[in-house]
Amino acid sequence: MPRKHTKSDNDKMSKKNTGYNNRKQKIVYFAVSALVLMTSIICIAVLILVTILYKKVDGLEESIEALQDIRQYDSYVTNRPVDMHNEALDIENSVPDESEIVDRAEAAVLDDSIVQLQGIGNNDDGIRRVYLTFDDGPSSNTDRILDILDSYGVKATFFVVGKNNYTQQYKRIVEEGHTLAMHSFTHKYKEIYASLDAYKYDLKQLHDFLYELTGKDCTIVRFPGGSSNTVSKVDMFELIDYLDGEGIIYFDWNVSSGDASGTYLSADQIAKNVLDNVNRFDNAVVLFHDAASKDSTVEALPIIIEKILESDNTVILPISGDTVKVQHLHH
Ligand SMILES: [Zn+2]
Repeated sequence: MPRKHTKSDNDKMSKKNTGYNNRKQKIVYFAVSALVLMTSIICIAVLILVTILYKKVDGLEESIEALQDIRQYDSYVTNRPVDMHNEALDIENSVPDESEIVDRAEAAVLDDSIVQLQGIGNNDDGIRRVYLTFDDGPSSNTDRILDILDSYGVKATFFVVGKNNYTQQYKRIVEEGHTLAMHSFTHKYKEIYASLDAYKYDLKQLHDFLYELTGKDCTIVRFPGGSSNTVSKVDMFELIDYLDGEGIIYFDWNVSSGDASGTYLSADQIAKNVLDNVNRFDNAVVLFHDAASKDSTVEALPIIIEKILESDNTVILPISGDTVKVQHLHH
């Protein structure tokens, strides 16, 4: 006979039910907790993943930018004649003391629209002023150049780099009344044009180096490759603003001797390049290079100086703070 449910049975049942409900609640509680925990973990994981990806994309963009710069630089270098390309590579790897610097960018043919605005119609006195300027020295040719200038009683401007083995030449430039001007300490495009700070550092290095050697506080500068160079990663106007703030004047050129071009030019060709163009300007700033390999530049100098001095109302002067500015870039 089936046993009747007694009160105590009901109690047992209800206890059993309560126990069952408690377990159920615990399971639900654990399930929900686990779900919340897992969701949190997934969220954090996704967040970390997104951050990593974002950084990677950022890095990738930087890499692409860097690559584009390198490509631009390389094409800049490779689009020039082969021997120039080699020279360019030499420049990048050079220690200024040991190897000469030849500025390929300064060989670039100037856009006439840039040049024609410069150095024309500036002089009220009707006197043409010619400024002979020499970049990238000193070199083993500096003394020869100084001797020639001295023999004609002519003063020039030397945009020098930093070299340890030419103490006497820096001093001679100053002692003989020429303008000692700054070009770059290292003349390494990739370094000096990497940032404003890098440019400042290089120029200060050169300034202090020259001040210690000669006592001259140089205030005239020429950018490697000129202000119109297309190599700089920094906006050239940023560098120009910096120079303005420091009271430093930059000069480009409006007449190129062509002596930095890849092919060897004879003294006669260099002289022709200069003499054909000097007369176009009231203020002609002529670009030469003072480098060991530039013998034909040295040989062209007497021809050039004699012709200029023969011209009426024409003088040869060193650049000073008062010189009419010949600059490729203007605000
Ligand atoms: Zn140079």
